[in-house]
Amino acid sequence: MTSQVLNGAGRARKPRNNRLFRFFPARPDDPEARRKGRARFARFLGYYRPHLPLLTTILASAVLVAATAIAMPLLANHIVARLPELADSPDATRQLLFIGGVMLVIFVLQALATYFVDYQGHVMGARIEAQVRRELFEHCQKLSFTFYDRQRTGQLMSRISNDSLWLGELFHHGPEDVAISLLKFGGAMAVLTWIDPMVAGTIALMIPFAIGYAMIFNRRMNIALRTSKERIAGVNERVEDALGGIRVVQSFANEADELRRFEVQNQHFLQSRKDGYRSEALLWSGMDGFAQLVTVAVIVIGAFRILHADLSAAELLTLLLCVGVLLDPIKRFDNFIRLWQEGYTGFTRAMELLEEEPDIADNPDARPLSDVKGAIAFRNVRFRYEADVPLVLDGISLDIRPGEFVALVGPSGVGKSTLCALIPRFYDVDGGSVSIDGHDVRSVTLAALRRSIGMVQQDVYLFSGTVWENLLYGRPGASDDEVIAAACAANAHDFITALPQGYDTDIGQRGVKLSGGQKQRLTIARAFLKNPPVLIFDEATSALDNDSERAVQQALLGLARGRTTIVIAHRLSTVRHADRILVLTREGMVEQGTHDALMAAGGVYAGLHSTQGRI
Ligand code: ADP
Repeated sequence: MTSQVLNGAGRARKPRNNRLFRFFPARPDDPEARRKGRARFARFLGYYRPHLPLLTTILASAVLVAATAIAMPLLANHIVARLPELADSPDATRQLLFIGGVMLVIFVLQALATYFVDYQGHVMGARIEAQVRRELFEHCQKLSFTFYDRQRTGQLMSRISNDSLWLGELFHHGPEDVAISLLKFGGAMAVLTWIDPMVAGTIALMIPFAIGYAMIFNRRMNIALRTSKERIAGVNERVEDALGGIRVVQSFANEADELRRFEVQNQHFLQSRKDGYRSEALLWSGMDGFAQLVTVAVIVIGAFRILHADLSAAELLTLLLCVGVLLDPIKRFDNFIRLWQEGYTGFTRAMELLEEEPDIADNPDARPLSDVKGAIAFRNVRFRYEADVPLVLDGISLDIRPGEFVALVGPSGVGKSTLCALIPRFYDVDGGSVSIDGHDVRSVTLAALRRSIGMVQQDVYLFSGTVWENLLYGRPGASDDEVIAAACAANAHDFITALPQGYDTDIGQRGVKLSGGQKQRLTIARAFLKNPPVLIFDEATSALDNDSERAVQQALLGLARGRTTIVIAHRLSTVRHADRILVLTREGMVEQGTHDALMAAGGVYAGLHSTQGRI
């Protein structure tokens, strides 16, 4: 029983693990996986729905391509069979020209149908592919921070761009290849059988060997292809890492080391390409050899049958032309299988991503927030990032009044950023609640919640583009005057106008052309434009020069006026301005009060202050 499994009737049958059967993807044992597989296939077919009229026309054209391909040998047969009769006919030339004309018309029809299938079919495939890509991108935008914490962006990019390229090909070639191949194969076999059943039978006996051969080498090719894909991901990862961190690489003068690491991945990739090409060459030469073999067999058998007067020369010519038509689908077959495997695994990967449920979404009864005052309350909040790790926040309770300026201080890693991330629901609490104006953040719509909160993060993210475009991101409909007013309020206008093209200056990818302080002032300006009632500011830990620090500080104080502000503070100057300082340690919220009161108390805050000189 170890190597055999029992089927439903209780008889033992061999598991399907021989070479040929392994060519097909194993049928999952899990009923849930099978149900998912069926649902995905239904979804695959569903993508054709909006294109049904076009698909029908493409399939009709495919029938025409196959029919005209079969018509050619039949017409050739007709001409050659009638040659003796035509030799004596006075209007032989006219008749030959007529048949030639008919062949020309058929050829033109075939060319037109092929063009239509090829062009419109590809366009249809590309449209479906674009649709899938759009769905993927749209879905990725909804997925929550937890998802991105465990995903690599490079992998996601490859799913959205590379994988979907194969999808387009599959959506196009799938129906077309199946239709043309079946029709050509069936039609050619029918004509062969009609002309000479013996030749047809011989070919029919040879075909399974060709298919078996194609399957084995196709499978090998696919394995190599998949390995190549994985290894090119390794190459990409090195490129992304080394070029993304080029400043670090060069500052450590580690170029040679990076090149060595890159070359390891590059050579791995090269090896898998070599394996793939070997299998591909074996596959193609084998298929060509098979085509020659069939042709030779048809010529030899045909010649014998002509000798015995069982076959005419015209019929032999038709047989040979038919063999050409017959072999085309066999050659296409392996291409189709590859397409199917590549495309459908890509489709499955895309569907897996689409099936990923966002952890954080609007509750069914979520309501919009209006006229937000900015009261924030934490009630016995407990939170951990993953199920099996210790709690980051354990029983935090806190009330922040509307318009209050609160500074959050404490050692690194105690959960200050985490606490702030719970307010806009980047993560949901594991226990207790967070509320805004008395509404649990889970009871209001995400869009309304996040519209009422402005975040200025330490890790400033600016998009590639101009200064203007980056500012407008705060409120896309803002007028020119509003944008400039926001830049002025953020102490950014002067440095922006001093840039080579002022507001139209391209700031480079992620704002590399700007200093830390400048970037932070741009994000403050963005927050001014957004004008949210609640502001969360994660102060940069890296020291800014005095001028920058003062400029950022002033901008922040301007922005904080009239709104609830929570600052994860690292500078004394910021903390001094706070209405209240909250001290967070691993034991929780251990102290709160003004700077003077906390210094006088001589507790944790005073300790942090005197030992580190920073808070
Ligand atoms: P602080 O802002 O006080 O420096 P954080 O809130 O950034 O602290 O981090 C608190 C703890 O949570 C740290 O131990 C940190 O390693 C962990 N942490 C932060 N972000 C994540 C994350 N995305 N996934 C898992 N753990 C995280």
